Amino acid sequence: MNNAEAVWDLVDHHGEDFASLSDTIWGLAELAYGEFQSSAAQRQALEAHGFAVTTGIGGLPTAVMGEAGTGGPIIAFLGEFDALPGLSQEAGIASPQPLPGSGNGHGCGHNLLGAAALLAATALKGWLAATGIPGRVRYYGCPAEEGGAGKVFMTRAGAFAGVDAAITWHPATTTRVDPAESLANTRIEFHFTGRAAHAAVAPHLGRSALDAVELMNVGANYMREHMPADARLHYALLDAGGTAPNVVQASAKVIYAIRAADLGSLADLTRRVIDIARGAALMTETSMSHRVVAAYSNMLPNPPLREAMHANMVRLGPVPFDAADRDFAAAIQATLTQEHIAGDFRQIGRTVVPGLALFDDVVGLNEPIAKRMSSTDVADVSWVVPTVEGRVATQAIGTPPHTWQITAQGKTPAAHKGLIHAAKVMAGTGADLIADAGLLGRVREDHQSRLAATPYHCPIPDAVQPPIMMRPKDDDLG
Ligand SMILES: [Zn+2]
Repeated sequence: MNNAEAVWDLVDHHGEDFASLSDTIWGLAELAYGEFQSSAAQRQALEAHGFAVTTGIGGLPTAVMGEAGTGGPIIAFLGEFDALPGLSQEAGIASPQPLPGSGNGHGCGHNLLGAAALLAATALKGWLAATGIPGRVRYYGCPAEEGGAGKVFMTRAGAFAGVDAAITWHPATTTRVDPAESLANTRIEFHFTGRAAHAAVAPHLGRSALDAVELMNVGANYMREHMPADARLHYALLDAGGTAPNVVQASAKVIYAIRAADLGSLADLTRRVIDIARGAALMTETSMSHRVVAAYSNMLPNPPLREAMHANMVRLGPVPFDAADRDFAAAIQATLTQEHIAGDFRQIGRTVVPGLALFDDVVGLNEPIAKRMSSTDVADVSWVVPTVEGRVATQAIGTPPHTWQITAQGKTPAAHKGLIHAAKVMAGTGADLIADAGLLGRVREDHQSRLAATPYHCPIPDAVQPPIMMRPKDDDLG
């Protein structure tokens, strides 16, 4: 059954409005849990298109959900809208030029991500109304993907209950549906407490919390050789205990991000890191406490859903970039190394095509796509609802995530073409799932068999609350 053309026409019909919504959110560039205006802009778009809107989903003030349709299965589109600190950049310029203001920038393209998912939901809503087929569509505007685990808190609160399948995407350098692989991830703060002393007069009376942090880091770095190859460990100092070298530091904090292939190996690695922290405290006669601040699961695959989305990508073909798009992408590539560019080809198991600035193909289902070494909070949704995440080319081949180059490309005509393309892929997949009960049955069956083998437990302890921000007082968010 091919439902694509009618729903794609609806995407085209609304395309300009949602490209403009994406540009607005690019300009707001709000950080995780502070996306008040971005969330309001999305809420207004949902209301304007006749969705029934709920805000504050899962207890998160900036989460927003719109629903339309009656009866039938519920198809959800997941969107994001948070920016990153330090990645402010003039749009459409291929050299680093931060804008005046907050310093934040959309260096991961979440302005496009959210607007395209909302566009897909709007098109599917129109398609349901036109065809009279029973079915419901939801759009979830999800806060704080960048390190904030927004969807994990939403999942824990039951925000996705009743949803039959969830569809999302991420802006990328190539067009593909990855085998669902992402690393489980936890972030833990370690706080060491010692005893202050004059570092010259009475060093023997001091017990240094900073020493404990340094010894913990040494221990963790020695552990690195003895971890599974697909695990990752990183840390950042939150508090080195002060700036005076003549004081023995009585308090110091370090945060660790621990990543592993699944929750089982993550738990094992986490236990070892905590033991290292205990050892550091023992060596320095300090005390140590630790707390989980965020955690993500690994992504659960769903091959029937992956195939359904891929079929829509193939039907649609590559993103229709033009010569001007390629020229700007080539200018961006000139700011990258050959290793950046080669890395993107290697990611999809292909050899480098010299001079190719924008991806002009769809990666096949059986091409040897490299395992993804990052984490995403989409993964936790994938454990409670069958979920698929596609990637659509919106930026020059070689552009690394979380860079000014992504911010620079976030409002270009190429990015808008990718946004509309992604919305078509998602809306077409949603229409297929609603119209083809057999497909949805296979999707459900696959999900249930995986859960029967490994039940889901939210990786964030119940006591941990999201670090939500207060809504600004003097705003006018409508
Ligand atoms: Zn992202």
